[in-house]
Amino acid sequence: MVESSVLGFPRIGAFRELKKNTEAYWAGKIGADQLLAVGKEIREKNWKLQKEAGVDIIPSNDFSFYDQVLDLSVLFNVIPERYTKFDLPQLDVLFAMGRGLQRKATETTKAVDVTALEMVKWFDSNYHYVRPTFSHSTQFKLNGQKPVDEYLEAKALGIETRPVLVGPVSYLYLGKPDKDSLDLKPISLLEKILPVYTEILKKLAEAGAKEVQIDEPTLVLDLPEEVQAAFKTAYETLAKAEGLPKLILTTYFGDVRPNLSAIKGLPVAGFHFDFVRCPEQLDDAIALVSDKQTLSVGVVDGRNIWKNDYAQSIEFVKKAIEKLGADKVVVSTSSSLLHTPVDLENEKKLDAEIKNWFSFATQKLAEVVTIAKAVSGEDVSAALEANAAAIKSRKESDLTNDEAVKARMAKIDKSLSTRKSPFPERLAKQKAKYNLPLFPTTTIGSFPQTKDIRINRNKFVKGEITAEQYEQFINSEIEKVVRFQEEVGLDVLVHGEPERNDMVQYFGEQLKGYAFTTNGWVQSYGSRYVRPPIIVGDVSRPKAMSVKESVYAQSLTKKPMKGMLTGPVTCLRWSFPRNDVSQKVQALQLSLALRDEVNDLEAAGVTVIQVDEPAIREGLPLRAGQERSDYLEWAAESFRVATSGVRDDTQIHSHFCYSDLDPNHIKALDADVVSIEFSKKDDPKYIQEFANYPNHIGLGLFDIHSPRIPSKEEFVARIGEIMKVYPADKFWVNPDCGLKTRGWEETRASLTNMVEAAKVFREKY
Ligand code: GLN
Ligand code: ZN
Repeated sequence: MVESSVLGFPRIGAFRELKKNTEAYWAGKIGADQLLAVGKEIREKNWKLQKEAGVDIIPSNDFSFYDQVLDLSVLFNVIPERYTKFDLPQLDVLFAMGRGLQRKATETTKAVDVTALEMVKWFDSNYHYVRPTFSHSTQFKLNGQKPVDEYLEAKALGIETRPVLVGPVSYLYLGKPDKDSLDLKPISLLEKILPVYTEILKKLAEAGAKEVQIDEPTLVLDLPEEVQAAFKTAYETLAKAEGLPKLILTTYFGDVRPNLSAIKGLPVAGFHFDFVRCPEQLDDAIALVSDKQTLSVGVVDGRNIWKNDYAQSIEFVKKAIEKLGADKVVVSTSSSLLHTPVDLENEKKLDAEIKNWFSFATQKLAEVVTIAKAVSGEDVSAALEANAAAIKSRKESDLTNDEAVKARMAKIDKSLSTRKSPFPERLAKQKAKYNLPLFPTTTIGSFPQTKDIRINRNKFVKGEITAEQYEQFINSEIEKVVRFQEEVGLDVLVHGEPERNDMVQYFGEQLKGYAFTTNGWVQSYGSRYVRPPIIVGDVSRPKAMSVKESVYAQSLTKKPMKGMLTGPVTCLRWSFPRNDVSQKVQALQLSLALRDEVNDLEAAGVTVIQVDEPAIREGLPLRAGQERSDYLEWAAESFRVATSGVRDDTQIHSHFCYSDLDPNHIKALDADVVSIEFSKKDDPKYIQEFANYPNHIGLGLFDIHSPRIPSKEEFVARIGEIMKVYPADKFWVNPDCGLKTRGWEETRASLTNMVEAAKVFREKY
């Protein structure tokens, strides 16, 4: 029998139980005990679900209250001193590292004021991990034994599991040095960290774990030589230790081939490869496996929601079996299922035909099991037939074959993706038109999405209030946000996005070619989940999507109002994309739809327009080379197609989360003003990198993921730092990102301090 395996299951609960309880805990509404109990319940449900589905190899330690990488940092004591000096319980230390903590002193506790650690995208996904942050004084040791506890918890339920750990090389390489140790290379800590890996692995073995899934996803990156060499050191050292479980070296999200020599001959019990993302690596993977090792064949997509094509997968797995033998092959998900929604059965509103094209995490369990059975010679013909019919219905649907969209796509050329004049000419006209002060202040778009907003949106969705009542409510919210911004003294205003449930979903719901779920949540970071819409067919825009709200907002003020749209690449990246046409085609279809929207905004008098592309960085192919340069080209082209239909004096803004984007890539978009997340970049070299950026730029000045309020002095110091290398007449003053997850109180305080700081610099320059 060929075994089936799952690399990880979503931990948010089928109805977002984890979010609701975590946030209740943060708000002081429930105690730690209650939150811990909810975690336990979710784990139990997940294990039982997998057991009942017939999965042979079930993961444990894939659960986390915030992030699995952060869990490891806490476990290994990679906790910068600033988080330990308040005598917080371990759970609160974890949350403080993840999201920062600011708390007044009480009679029994000290005041706390600490920022969050840096959070970055997990490879090319929309999941974020908290970066391990090392310093010369880091002392590795075990704080507790979470992986063992969770293994034993499953065992007590009668379920044998395979614990998951991020491996030592990836853990170090994904980290960074702390501000006090900028000369430290994390990978140089390998010898120091291996003893704690040995210790936790040994404990797992003692608890009864036979095998551990050790994730080394960095193997799909271009790795410096010393990192490649680290694999040998790490795994040979671990192999020498006595009494450890077997290790399955697990990679995902890409092509391992360029790093094969780094893992060839390693003393591990097996390897896992992602063959959804890179089927071409099968022969090399087979050649890598020795006669004592196994190959886990990832054919069920952990990153997307399409039904597996059984015929194709079975044929693929059989190739591996022919070469290696059935006892050496395991059928698996390509990666953890963390990146897919929990259960398709909870979708009650999807069109039945389209729903039949999808498979969420729960359905994928049956997929790995069915494929494993099929290649083991069991009769699964009914499942295969139903599957073939679903695949055919999608291929032949009108939705995936829209002739009008195809005709418009064929006409895209250079003139469609070029602004009328170059930036300097546009700038002169824009200066004359808007007459903004030096250090213009603005925000990134969203304002607090309050409970009241969510309640009213839900009422509207459920039909409890009329469209008219809802519009009135939204308008009153917009007015509140406009008055607030005038009061605080911001220069370029926004309408606050109260009508948007999510920056991609909101547009997805209005575009043809999209489907959306009611419960398809996926963790983005911590307690923040997203509900990605699904691109099911060719995309077009039946009618204006955002004009009404922006026009209303502009009518309330003399200050310029920014129209606010989500760019084509972000719409693509934060949706579940089609897997039957290329990403480029999907991005360009989206750009045509957005171009119509941008032009409509301009025609309606909204002439500052921000087209957000926060996801442009995460779309960057993980390796340098042709695929990456192609991506950069079509990503920039689709942004320009969307934004180039306007007059010179219409000011195009764009926004990016994460600044580890090459300024040259941003330049290619030719936006007039860009804002980027920057507040957690401690190293001045990053400021330097942007100093030559030709157009206008706002380097984000405060962390919107944290409730912490920076003082005016802090803003002044930060802008002062930047002004040492940055031209004053190009600089905009803004936060890192939208304020939708913040409360009003901290928003008012932070923005007031930010505007006051901008005034200080206007005096100086
Ligand atoms: N305009 C969006 C907002 O402010 C941008 C969000 C983002 O970049 N993630 O919410
Ligand atoms: Zn952002």
